[in-house]
Amino acid sequence: MKIGTPKEIFEGEARVAMTPDSALQLQKLGHTCVVESGAGHSAGFSDADYEAAGVEVVKTPAALWKAADIVAKVRVPSDAEMKRLREGQTLISFFSPVADEDKMKAAADKGATVIAMEMIPRISRAQKMDALSSMANIAGYRAVIEAGNNFGRFFTGQITAAGKVPPAKVLVVGAGVAGLAAIGTSTSLGAITYAFDVRPEVAEQVQSMGAEFVFLDFEEEQQDGAATGGYASVSSPEFREAQLAKFRELAPEVDIVITTALIPNREAPELWTEDMVKSMKAGSVIVDLAAEKGGNCKLTVMGEKIVTDNGVTIIGYTDFPSRMATQASSLYATNIRHLMSDLTPEKDGVINHNMEDDVIRGATIAHAKEVTFPPPAPKVA
Ligand code: NAD
Repeated sequence: MKIGTPKEIFEGEARVAMTPDSALQLQKLGHTCVVESGAGHSAGFSDADYEAAGVEVVKTPAALWKAADIVAKVRVPSDAEMKRLREGQTLISFFSPVADEDKMKAAADKGATVIAMEMIPRISRAQKMDALSSMANIAGYRAVIEAGNNFGRFFTGQITAAGKVPPAKVLVVGAGVAGLAAIGTSTSLGAITYAFDVRPEVAEQVQSMGAEFVFLDFEEEQQDGAATGGYASVSSPEFREAQLAKFRELAPEVDIVITTALIPNREAPELWTEDMVKSMKAGSVIVDLAAEKGGNCKLTVMGEKIVTDNGVTIIGYTDFPSRMATQASSLYATNIRHLMSDLTPEKDGVINHNMEDDVIRGATIAHAKEVTFPPPAPKVA
């Protein structure tokens, strides 16, 4: 099969779904590869790099979509790209099946197959294809770097001839994939790092990374809001009050707050209120990784960086992985390459779209003229 990657057209998107390295691996599966000229430019991969890896380079998006049997890309296809999608073609990309239901139905009507990368089941066997995790890892790392870039002091404490410098204090709210990456980055830069999550089972992991887990003075065990399956649910009002009281206590003390708290299929919980922002020191920084889902901080403006009257910088960017496009592209392209490996069991360039396979079935949202979302629950853990 011919696997093709167009240049992303979403404004500001710098990632690319195929790298010269991933193309070499795809060719080992018996496939041929094609990219649109300039597809890798913003991520640091030139047309010549692709050609050196045996990839055909075509000039236009029209030529790319025409040539490819399988189109691998990053962002949900635009309307123009949807028009190019054709019967028998397979599209692999992020594709929010709920928000973009019309596009999913249109793809099914056309007889195209769509594999949505965010639908890869989060089971052990599929970790190598889990693009949500690979991108969240980058977002967590980059959030700390972005905070540091907007913070006027060191992270680590220092005693120098020119004076004593106290270490920065960082609070990470939500210790999922992004939160743990933020914790690891923060502690490795030398900051005193605190972390909070409604899931108490992450406390040990947080502590093993050198951070302090924030426990609440709450009568029940600290797991209100921790649902089964490793995800969070909505906390009770009492738990939420206890959580906010603890954050109010911490707000004047911490220099940097990284919020990552999400609840599946809901708006992000509001956890950092206006009065907390007002009680923070001038020069403090909040990075709200939940900005796209409404934000954990009341004052976050999605996609923007603002500075409050009391001198607190609040960053609501939604493109952290794209801000590290080379790294993000190589991890995302590797996720896709592993998926292609499962789709090509004989390594002979022949696709076996096995709808009995939990991972392939779970991620396929359109196939054989049918909408195949939502998928049944996976059979294995
Ligand atoms: P997520 O992005 O859905 O949420 C981020 C974090 O916010 C979670 O840790 C959640 O508990 C926390 N949170 C929600 N409400 C909160 C609140 N009010 N206060 C504080 N924190 C709050 O999470 P994620 O990074 O996608 O990870 C979710 C789960 O999936 C985790 O258990 C993770 O270990 C698991 N996971 C498993 C695999 C696998 O392949 N087995 C891969 C990735 C993630």
